Amino acid sequence: MNAEEFREFGKATVDYIADYLENIRDRQVLPSVEPGYIRALLPDETPEEPEQWQDVLKDVERVIMPGVTHWHSPQFHAYYPTANSYPAIIGELLSAGIGCVGLNWMASPACTELEVAMMDWLGKLLDLPKEFLNCSDGPGGGVIQGSASESTLLALLAAKDRTVRRIKKERPDWDEGMIKAKLVAYSSDQSNSSVEKAGILGSMTMRLLPADEKCSFRGSTLREAMEKDKKQGLIPCCVIATLGTTGTCAFDHLVELGPICIQNNVWLHVDAAYAGAAFICPEFRHHMAGVEYADSFTFNPHKWLLVNSDCSAMWVKNSNDFVNAFKVDRIYLAHQKQGLAPDFRNWQISLGRRFRSLKLWFVLRLYGASGLRKHIRKQVALAQTFEKLVVADPRFELVLNSCMGLVCFRVKGPDSITKKLHEALSQSHRIYASAATYDGSCMIRFAVCSRFTEEKDILYSWKEICDQTERLISLEQNGHGEILFQKKCIGRMLRIQQSYN
Ligand SMILES: *Cc1c(COP(=O)(O)O)cnc(C)c1O
Repeated sequence: MNAEEFREFGKATVDYIADYLENIRDRQVLPSVEPGYIRALLPDETPEEPEQWQDVLKDVERVIMPGVTHWHSPQFHAYYPTANSYPAIIGELLSAGIGCVGLNWMASPACTELEVAMMDWLGKLLDLPKEFLNCSDGPGGGVIQGSASESTLLALLAAKDRTVRRIKKERPDWDEGMIKAKLVAYSSDQSNSSVEKAGILGSMTMRLLPADEKCSFRGSTLREAMEKDKKQGLIPCCVIATLGTTGTCAFDHLVELGPICIQNNVWLHVDAAYAGAAFICPEFRHHMAGVEYADSFTFNPHKWLLVNSDCSAMWVKNSNDFVNAFKVDRIYLAHQKQGLAPDFRNWQISLGRRFRSLKLWFVLRLYGASGLRKHIRKQVALAQTFEKLVVADPRFELVLNSCMGLVCFRVKGPDSITKKLHEALSQSHRIYASAATYDGSCMIRFAVCSRFTEEKDILYSWKEICDQTERLISLEQNGHGEILFQKKCIGRMLRIQQSYN
């Protein structure tokens, strides 16, 4: 492909993306394909001769789109949002165009330096303690990771290294392997699956302690578990607290957990993957009270801050903990400006790194702080609109008060109807929400995800939920419920048709 064709292909693809996103409301949010569907649509072998880009682009609609779950559909309410915005898409494109590998400062100075600057912009926007910022002249700083999972793992591994160094000083007679075997990490049973996985990957015992009735991890629970472990000769090493849990968007009590970590020389990592974006709005910052106790803090601009994946923002108070733990030198990695700017390869798992700060720069400049706050506030308001609909309907109940863009609700009565409602919604493919359990009972998590979601979409989803619930309740009460419901629908359709004629 030459540059002329690239221009045409690129412009046609940008047009395709814009059409796709602007008309996404018209697509069914969940696909109807079966496993293996794509194999039937593709040849068995790589084409021997090059094809035309027009043919390939045409096949996106034929082969790919039928199997896409439309995460940016205004009817997508499952999990948490994944970010998507035009400035970020262009940032990704430019990053691919430059195509550098910023493994150290010299490998592409702009790649490191823009990231340092953007992490400071972002840290200030959240009002993080200044010790976390690159510009604080201390050992703190921010870096872009691929995911919150990676950030948690890195925090755990840095905590492990820091603790082993400390204990070796205190007990020079102890063998390193023996110290490592005694280390324990703590989190709550509400933390993300990636926290448990970090324990597996980092070979550290991970205690998932019970959260309180509001799903928050409390100091008394942590203290008790640590004391018990210490009595057994174990060594507390790392605590992972969550601000905005995946299940119910609960906030762990940093003000209680923090001092216990300090007293015990334990690394406190804060995982705010989803809800952290809301801290750009002053009215939500009370949720991060106690963040000053943390050694590291992560949130994902790629979830709720309009920066396409991957962009997980991580700050550490002392980056020497990373460098001490992860630095491996080779002659080809050395450069003349070493020590004058961070070499981010020592702050992450991989050696190579993409120019991810470009898309962050584009989003921060093209939305501005005010545009980003507007986005967060709008989505919170839409969740509150949905919450009001639930509260006003006697068939439903809230499981917990809505928090940020998340509403957890259920059908009153036995779990079976809520379970069936979730199944019915998944089968109808018109809206997509996920099921979860709280306190042993079944609930539906309704998250406002797409930046295209408007009040009319919330009303559409609510109507779908109500229609399905009505059908299930009448089925439950009456074996002929299904038939009655169908008759009612046909009646309604006839009336609509008549009113058109
Ligand atoms: C989504 C989520 C994660 C996982 O984020 P990745 O970037 O996909 O690893 C971790 N923690 C919490 C609280 C989350 O909501």
